[in-house]
Amino acid sequence: MSTIDSLYQHFLNYPTICTDTRSITKDCLFFALKGENFDANSFAANALASGAAYAIIDNPDYLSDDHCILVPDVLTALQDLARHHRSKLNIPVIGLTGSNGKTTTKELINAVLSEKYKTFATKGNLNNHIGVPLSLLSIKPDIEIAVIEMGANHQKEIELLCGIAQPTHGLISNIGMAHLDGFGGFEGVKKGKAELYAYLKANEGIAFVNRSNPFLMEMMTAAGLNNVIYYGTEPGNTVSGSLLKTDPFLELRWTDKQGDHQTSTNLTGSYNFENILAAISLAEFFDLSPDQINKGLSGYQPKNNRSQLTKTERNTVICDFYNANPSSMTAALANINTLSASRKVAIIGDMFELGKESPEQHRLIVSEAEKTNVETLIFIGKDFYEAKKQHRGHFFHTPAEAQAFLEKELLSDSLILLKGSRGMALERLLPYL
Ligand code: ATP
Ligand code: MG
Repeated sequence: MSTIDSLYQHFLNYPTICTDTRSITKDCLFFALKGENFDANSFAANALASGAAYAIIDNPDYLSDDHCILVPDVLTALQDLARHHRSKLNIPVIGLTGSNGKTTTKELINAVLSEKYKTFATKGNLNNHIGVPLSLLSIKPDIEIAVIEMGANHQKEIELLCGIAQPTHGLISNIGMAHLDGFGGFEGVKKGKAELYAYLKANEGIAFVNRSNPFLMEMMTAAGLNNVIYYGTEPGNTVSGSLLKTDPFLELRWTDKQGDHQTSTNLTGSYNFENILAAISLAEFFDLSPDQINKGLSGYQPKNNRSQLTKTERNTVICDFYNANPSSMTAALANINTLSASRKVAIIGDMFELGKESPEQHRLIVSEAEKTNVETLIFIGKDFYEAKKQHRGHFFHTPAEAQAFLEKELLSDSLILLKGSRGMALERLLPYL
């Protein structure tokens, strides 16, 4: 039996995968991955003692008993196993990438499709070279459709993830100024994300493309895609739509071959409109009725700190602190600019992974923020601090400095945007708002 066949046999008997000895479940397969600061080979014996059925390792020095399976490389073994498992599942897999809105779109697609099907969707943000295999390995035999989020910060990553997830359907949410460092600038982002289109083209998959997005249209044409379903604002798309209301939550009208429909949502931020249309487009393709689509959309409540409107004792906060990059920051500022409130505040933190473009991108955001009708601007972090000139607004080096300011200022009766890169962890300021 080949290594992968024997690993797959073990997986059929023990279908739970663990990679962290702090959360071992009984009878799991423990994959001893390496991180920047650890080599889990040394935890294998511990994992077995804690109840793991087998430990998959790649260092023979840690072969403690016959429940250790030695492979050439643990990460490759995990990816190969996921690919093998996926190839045994005879179901549509929707592969989803893009610079912004992947998780939101994934959640929306899942919320809608689950009105008709037994679905699986990536949990949280498990979207990288480890997360995608782990996601695929959690797909149980009764699942009818899977939605897999694929993240990337360098070339060839989406190609690798597509090879593992083997999407039959795919969607790029959008192209923006994210991970410029790893991708090598904006053109690099387009090239890296287009690997999904290339995979769909080579494997006769179906792409869902936002016709209103010129970058996606250009990439789609370059990839020579044949099987394309369009959505967007233009009439004549398979699904088209327009926003009816944005304050505070989005309401939209959308049209498909059955006619015109109207939906209310619990999402704030007009940038979410394209995410919603994407979800409708997928749902329409998979034969959901307009009623099922509306029910799925209007029932979706974001709970993940992405565009989540939260009432505190004194204020209303747009909790958008899960992440930030120049495109999503621009969208968030444009959004608060259109919302109505007696007083508006934007508390925004540094955007990471922008490489040499970082100073300029931070300067641009400061200028954009100044042009909004937001009365109080609070910028936090080293890069924003360096972008300070004679600008209006308060600039702080660290969240701790901003916290001291907020403790003194005590904001009230305000609509507050709270957004920054994950590393800024701006959620720590929420108790002071
Ligand atoms: P990550 O790269 O961290 O996985 P993601 O692509 O999954 O991010 P989400 O987590 O869905 O994106 O959204 C993150 C933030 O991006 C949102 O809170 C919002 O500010 C912004 N955003 C969401 N959708 C869009 C969009 N279509 N265009 C621009 N910005 C968006
Ligand atoms: Mg995500």
